Amino acid sequence: MSAERILVAAAHPDDEVLGCGGTIGKYRKAGHDVRVVFLAEGITARYDPDQFELPDVKAKIERRNANAKRALAILGVDGKAVFTSQRYCCRLDQTPLIELTKEIERHLIDFKPTRLFTHSTGDTNVDHGFVHRAVLAAARPIAQERRLRAIYAFEVLSSSEWNPLQPFAPTVFHDITGFIDAKLSALAAYEDEMRAAPHPRSPEVVRALATYRGAQMGAAFAEGFVLVRGLDL
Ligand SMILES: [Zn+2]
Repeated sequence: MSAERILVAAAHPDDEVLGCGGTIGKYRKAGHDVRVVFLAEGITARYDPDQFELPDVKAKIERRNANAKRALAILGVDGKAVFTSQRYCCRLDQTPLIELTKEIERHLIDFKPTRLFTHSTGDTNVDHGFVHRAVLAAARPIAQERRLRAIYAFEVLSSSEWNPLQPFAPTVFHDITGFIDAKLSALAAYEDEMRAAPHPRSPEVVRALATYRGAQMGAAFAEGFVLVRGLDL
């Protein structure tokens, strides 16, 4: 495999591990560069706006962002390659899309990714959909961007499967057989986000989905992606 530069654009800390944590670990183990960009924090959806500035809420945002660096370190990603955000969770519909687009554009120019992983279109979470749209606008196919050979959409348990009329149907599979334990360890770093089975954000269900996606490609464990755009040069 030639040198790859992997950009992950996610809404909230934990989406990146749920969506493509095994794949991140696999690329890092092979020596490829990985950068992860979050467009929002993941806490304030649980609070009213008049509580957003409370010290306890701010501390939880900081802890969630710190957990992102701990989780990604387990997958081999250096903290300097992790970009967190203070934008309020589940309110990206109140942020001008151009602001998100320009932020992603800056990473495209600066990092020069060869592959980009981001959210799917059908998720119930409003932020996920806006990140997807911002990525499409930022990565519009102009000539100098041909180094970006593929854009993939990942699935996020507790969002993608909560839209039954638009089921996630992956077309590309990454064998993560050697990386399922690292993915689960990284998720455990998000101590406040994981739940007990049968909640979809539980170790049992994450492993079950990886088993099912593995069965779709003939591997013990896999992550599934929808190819949004691929360039076969
Ligand atoms: Zn999310």
